Amino acid sequence: MITDVLIIGGGGAAARCAIECSNKNVIIAVKGLFGKSGCTVMAEGGYNAVLNPEDDFKKHFEDTMKGGGYINNPKLVEILIKNAPKELKNLEKFGSIFDRNDDGTIAQRPFGGQSFNRTCYSGDRTGHELMAGLMEYINKLEKVKILEDTMAIKLIVKDNRCYGALFLNMITGDIFPIYAKSTVLATGGAGQLYPITSNPIQKVGDGFAMAYNEGVELIDMEMVQFHPTGMVGTGVLVTEAVRGEGGILYNKNKERFMVNYDKDRMELSTRDVVAKAIYNEIQEGRGVNGGVYLDVSHLDDEIIEERLETMFRQFMDIGVDIRREPMIIAPTAHHSMGGVRINERCETNIKGLFACGEVAGGIHGANRLGGNALADTQVFGAIAGRSAEEFAEASEFNLKDIKEYADKLIMDIKGDLANKVDNENNENNKHNTKYNIFELINSLKGIMWDYVSIVRNEEGLKKALLEINDLKNKIEDVKINGVIEIQKYLELKNMITVAEIIVKCALERKESRGAHYRSDYPETKDEWKGNLVVCKGNIKFVKL
Ligand SMILES: Cc1cc2nc3c(=O)[nH]c(=O)nc-3n(C[C@H](O)[C@H](O)[C@H](O)COP(=O)(O)OP(=O)(O)OC[C@H]3O[C@@H](n4cnc5c(N)ncnc54)[C@H](O)[C@@H]3O)c2cc1C
Repeated sequence: MITDVLIIGGGGAAARCAIECSNKNVIIAVKGLFGKSGCTVMAEGGYNAVLNPEDDFKKHFEDTMKGGGYINNPKLVEILIKNAPKELKNLEKFGSIFDRNDDGTIAQRPFGGQSFNRTCYSGDRTGHELMAGLMEYINKLEKVKILEDTMAIKLIVKDNRCYGALFLNMITGDIFPIYAKSTVLATGGAGQLYPITSNPIQKVGDGFAMAYNEGVELIDMEMVQFHPTGMVGTGVLVTEAVRGEGGILYNKNKERFMVNYDKDRMELSTRDVVAKAIYNEIQEGRGVNGGVYLDVSHLDDEIIEERLETMFRQFMDIGVDIRREPMIIAPTAHHSMGGVRINERCETNIKGLFACGEVAGGIHGANRLGGNALADTQVFGAIAGRSAEEFAEASEFNLKDIKEYADKLIMDIKGDLANKVDNENNENNKHNTKYNIFELINSLKGIMWDYVSIVRNEEGLKKALLEINDLKNKIEDVKINGVIEIQKYLELKNMITVAEIIVKCALERKESRGAHYRSDYPETKDEWKGNLVVCKGNIKFVKL
């Protein structure tokens, strides 16, 4: 297969990107179903945009930079903020519907860390509405082709130029190339590195690993956001809209503990602060069943049933009526602030390779504000689409040279897989029947949860590195059986790569900032105001 623009991923960023470059031949290749895999469709609380005359870009900029610990790329933040309102209007053009005030203006709710109520929403299923509009629009575009159940496993990069990617057909197990003049990574983040996460199964960090393996620069990888409120035990998200609508946090003694952590902003402090506060309450014995209470029972039933409908149903399903009793919540792995380093055109340091959405880093700094990610998918999705189209327009490549190169890559991958196949006739079997792929995945998640979550320190991070190293050896001795295990094996290799990068960056940053809290370096230090950039095994600090 050959195309002008190849978009890897099928969430909000990929969809917006496809619309923007749809004058060209576009292939969207997605692990899972288009529009139904990834985080966008699950997004609940809303989309930030300056719409009200009393709000302004400066305030949104300052909120975003402050929330991000001032290590966000200010140029990218400015682009995000100035274009978010325009992209919201585009969404309405594509078919998404946002809730309105009585006077017909778009309704906006308060969200954490924001100095103005600027979060636009569609009840508490904003992402679903957003994807529905985008999908409806894309269905009418003749030049956009969608390949589902198609997992990208390697970028085809030669001499610092990307020519597409290799894919696993998740049904047949076939491995095949898609050649492209421009390639856009829109694979989202890596919440699934943790056992308790709000993220769906696809989000294991494939995009980060594929990029890193080809010498693409990654930035801020130590910055992993833990959303303060997940359903206790499972991590299923309890949207920030609950606190936006007036939800109150209590510990087991019925104390409104946020007063001790941020008395001005209380429950609407930034996520890093609220998550850390909840973590402390639990650690210090003031938790309840592994979490704390989040209560909306003082709100009118109507507000809960209409504006928090999903939450209402989600808790009813487990027998908790949130109109009458509190929820029990605890932090859950949620968002990767770090990712592929991009410039203002969504270009990476590899020619012909672009990135947008959660797989891209630098926009949200050390901590993302709720509501900024959906805006990010639309603003940078559109920019990536324009840049990819322009690059495709201007570029040529010699398919013959690339084909030989890609064939060799495919042979190598197939050779590796053949070594791992759990089959009586496999000569190598005697060496590789030891480890079960699912057990290794769970081990990695356990390491990340124990040592690389909300509170980190040198001792734990070093242990994590040792244990990840051990997993690297074990994965060589894994047995795989059937296409699902092939997929899981390829994913685990990526997860190990990404986990190791996160741990190394977390060890390197000897301070606490945003989502990165080091108990051995609890202060934020000016000398660390900057970004860690990782490439080809090297970590460099870029001071701001
Ligand atoms: C439960 C939940 C609620 C949220 N609520 C909000 C909110 O209210 N407001 C807000 O601003 N943000 C919210 N977020 C965050 C926000 O939804 C995400 O950051 C954003 O939607 C990411 O969009 P994306 O297009 O970059 O990635 P995603 O929407 O995650 O899509 C990634 C896509 O890439 C595909 N993919 C992954 N790996 C591969 C591969 N190897 N090959 C091919 N395809 C691949 C996936 O299958 C998926 O289709 C929420 C997140 C969650 C999990």
